[in-house]
Amino acid sequence: MARTVHIIGAGLAGLSAAAELAARGDHVVVHEATAFAGGRCRSYHDAAVGMAIDNGNHLLLSGNRAALEFLRVIGSAHRLIGPPAAEFPFVDLETRARWTLRFNEGRLPLWIFDAKRRVPGTRVSDYLALARLLWPRSGKTVSETIACKGPLYARLIEPFLLAALNIDPPDGSAKLAAAVIRETIAAGGRACRPLIARDGLAATLIDPALDHLRERGALIKFEHQLRAMRFGTQCVEALDFGSEIVALADGDAVILAVPPYAAASLVQGLSVPNEFRAIVNAHFRIDPPAGQPPILGVLNATTQWIFAFPGRLSVTVSAGDRLLDTPREQLAQTIWAEVAAATGLPAALPVLPPWQIVRERRATFAATPAQDQKRPGAQTAWRNLFLAGDWTNTGLPATIEGAIRSGNRAAELLAANTPLTTAPKIPPMIPP
Ligand SMILES: Cc1cc2nc3c(=O)[nH]c(=O)nc-3n(C[C@H](O)[C@H](O)[C@H](O)COP(=O)(O)OP(=O)(O)OC[C@H]3O[C@@H](n4cnc5c(N)ncnc54)[C@H](O)[C@@H]3O)c2cc1C
Repeated sequence: MARTVHIIGAGLAGLSAAAELAARGDHVVVHEATAFAGGRCRSYHDAAVGMAIDNGNHLLLSGNRAALEFLRVIGSAHRLIGPPAAEFPFVDLETRARWTLRFNEGRLPLWIFDAKRRVPGTRVSDYLALARLLWPRSGKTVSETIACKGPLYARLIEPFLLAALNIDPPDGSAKLAAAVIRETIAAGGRACRPLIARDGLAATLIDPALDHLRERGALIKFEHQLRAMRFGTQCVEALDFGSEIVALADGDAVILAVPPYAAASLVQGLSVPNEFRAIVNAHFRIDPPAGQPPILGVLNATTQWIFAFPGRLSVTVSAGDRLLDTPREQLAQTIWAEVAAATGLPAALPVLPPWQIVRERRATFAATPAQDQKRPGAQTAWRNLFLAGDWTNTGLPATIEGAIRSGNRAAELLAANTPLTTAPKIPPMIPP
C-alpha cells in the first residue's frame, strides 16, 4: 500500500507538490481551509461586474520554467496567451509619450544597442545599472546597489521590479531583484514573453490541476482546516482538523503549504516573514478597444499595468498599501480616468462601467533583505514534515514561479528523505 502524503493548503505550492507526489505513486490528500482552491491565485464570480474575475491580474513570463512545466503536466499550457515576441508597450500619462520595449530573442542584449528597441531617452551606458544589479552584495537593498533615478530606472527598472518584487523598488532586496533579472531580462527575449491566463486563473492554473490530481486518485478536502499538529521527537504523529484527528502511519508525511502566518501558528518557533505588501486591482466590465495589447505599462499614474481580457479591462497596482484606506468609489474614478487616457476610451462616461476594486492586503511578504533572511528552507526538524509556499526560501520573490518551485522542492525532499517504508506486501506462498 502506498503511504499517504497530507498536503495542507491548495494554493499553487500545495497543488504543485501534490502533482509531483501523485506522479511518484504516493496517495495524496490535499486539505484546504476554504471552500475553493487557488489561495492568492483564484477566480470568482463577482456580482458587481456580473462576470467571473480573478482576485488579481497575474503575469507570467516565458522564463518561468517551473510554472510552464506545471501547466504542461496538468494539460493547460495552451491556455496562456501572449504576444509572439517579448514586447512591452508603455504609455507615460504625464508626457503622453508612448513606446514599445522590444527585447531580442537571444541572450546577447542587442536591444540595448538599438535606439528603436531600447527605452527612449536612455544611452547604452545606462544599462550598466542592470549589470550591477545582477551581482549585488549580500543583504543590500536595490537603492544601496544602484542609483534609483534617471530614465532607465523610471521607465524599465522601477516598473519591472515593482511588478516582480511587489515593493517600492529602492527598499527591495537586491538579491531577489538579481534573481528575477537573471532568469528574465538577462536571459533574453525568449525568457521575457509576457503570458496571461486569458480565460482566468481558475480555468488555467487551478481547475485543471484539481482534475489532474483527482484522475490520479488524490483526494481534495475543502473546508478542512488544519488546527494543530501533534509532534513527536522525530516525526509529526497526528493532524488535528477540529472535528477529526488523523493519525499518521509509519511512512506517512505532511507538506505544510499555507501562508507564513498560518505556518507560524502551527509550528512553534518557526522563522517566517512577517511583513507584507498589498496589491490593488481594479476591474471594469467593458470591451477593450480594438488593438488594445494584452498588457500595457502605465507610468506617472496610480495605474501601473492595464490587462485586456474579453469584455474587461483590469488594472494592477503593486505595493498598493497607500491605497488601502482610499474610498473605493474615489479609487475607481481615478483609475478609470487613467484607463480612459491610456486606452483612448471616453473618460467622461455618464456612469462608470460596472467596476470592482479588490485589495489583497497580504498579497506577498515584503521583499526586503531583512524579510528575505527570515525565510525557512523546505526541511524541518521533523523527518516527515516539509514546508512549501512562495515565502519559503526559494531564492525568488513571492510569485507563481516561486510557489511552484517550492512545492516541487518539498515533494522532492519528501521523496528522498522518507522512502516508502510500507512497500507492497508480497502475498504468502500457498503450499501446493
Ligand atoms: C493580487 C495578487 C496579484 C499577484 N500577481 C502576481 C503576478 O502577476 N505574477 C506572479 O507570479 N505572482 C503574482 N502574485 C503572487 C502569487 O499569487 C502567489 O505567489 C502564489 O499564489 C502563492 O501561492 P502559495 O501556494 O504559496 O500560497 P497561497 O496561495 O496563499 O495558498 C495557501 C493556501 O493554504 C490555505 N490554508 C491556510 N491555512 C490553512 C490551514 N490551516 N489548513 C488548510 N489550508 C490552509 C489557504 O486557504 C490557501 O488556499 C500575486 C498575488 C496577489 C495576491
